Amino acid sequence: MKLDTKSLRYLNNADWKVLAAVESGSRNHEVVPTPLIISIAKSSAGDVQRSVSLLARSGLIAKVATAKYDGYRLTYGGLDYLALHGLQKSSIIYSVGNQIGVGKESDIFVVSDEKGEQKVLKIHRLGRVSFKKGVKNKRDYARTRTQKERGAGSWMYMSRLAAMKEYAFMTALKDAGIEVPTPLGQNRHQIVMSLVDGFPLRQIDKVPDPAGLYAELITIIVRLAHLGLIHGDFNEFNIMIKEVEKPDQEISLVPVVIDFPQMVSIDHANAKEYFDRDVDCIKKYFSRRFGFVSDNDGPHFKAVRKAIAHDTETKRLDAKVEASGFSKKMAKDLDAYMREHNIDGDREGDDPDTESEDDGGEASANENEEEITPATEDAIGVDAK
Ligand code: ADP
Ligand code: MG
Repeated sequence: MKLDTKSLRYLNNADWKVLAAVESGSRNHEVVPTPLIISIAKSSAGDVQRSVSLLARSGLIAKVATAKYDGYRLTYGGLDYLALHGLQKSSIIYSVGNQIGVGKESDIFVVSDEKGEQKVLKIHRLGRVSFKKGVKNKRDYARTRTQKERGAGSWMYMSRLAAMKEYAFMTALKDAGIEVPTPLGQNRHQIVMSLVDGFPLRQIDKVPDPAGLYAELITIIVRLAHLGLIHGDFNEFNIMIKEVEKPDQEISLVPVVIDFPQMVSIDHANAKEYFDRDVDCIKKYFSRRFGFVSDNDGPHFKAVRKAIAHDTETKRLDAKVEASGFSKKMAKDLDAYMREHNIDGDREGDDPDTESEDDGGEASANENEEEITPATEDAIGVDAK
């Protein structure tokens, strides 16, 4: 999805207030009536009208005429702006650079802070796929949706939940000493994290020690389990490999795990299935890509569970994540939505048979071969500070 940050510079405080008013009205109105926007923004009708025209022209809100009344709805672009503005005001980002990844449920950009240090912005976009589905699917969807889901706030809320979840887990995992990007900030459906200086495993043709790397990855899966967690999408796209120079000048490859919205607890009803899938995924990939097959057929979920029961030292992260504000109820809502919409991480649609021809996939991301809007670094929201 395009992220055109050009208009960010032209919005003044009054415009931001109106944009925020449309967002807030969207929580319980599919189409927010203009009088409600005026009342939430607490400005004069004339001022609001001026802002509304500018916002609509910039595609941040869209006019919707219903049978009963005219009003506006927030677009994904509008939500993007509100989140970017928030991250900018808290000095987490200053400018937005190139897009380096496009997933089914997210967009990834390189961004910079005021010192010019590069970071990664991940924008969660749940609901994007169902927007694009065929007419039939849309009709089925309309029929099966709950009342709450029909509200315009659904995609916004679910995308925000995915970002909250990812941010909460990234923070907890980092604290527990797992190699993950450093979480730097979250606003609405967006998170900012450190840029991993490396490539997804998928893009790496040869490793000096496949057995060693395999063992490290399996160790990560088992360590996660001891922390009470299963990644749920542990595959070659979600493992970044970074080169680290050791004091003896030897280069070692360090795996860094990313992409956490589908993480589940080891107490989940399907925990064994998820655990086995993560393990299998690594086994299959190492065999296919590096010709490496471990002579150990584990780790087995049952044995790992048993070991965990005796593990009194490792603290489980579930409680920590909940304390961060991502509640059990939120986890349940997100889980149900992802299941209902068949959101199943990077694995879905990944066809191993076409692998050699299509070596890019999501991974072409890192090559920066294509610049998507904005083409150049663009300072954002500078006059709206
Ligand atoms: P998705 O949910 O779309 O799969 P990911 O979090 O897996 O999103 O990110 C997609 C791609 O973006 C990754 O495969 C990787 O190439 C790149 N990427 C994501 N996070 C980072 C990061 N912190 N540093 C460097 N590259 C990243
Ligand atoms: Mg991914």
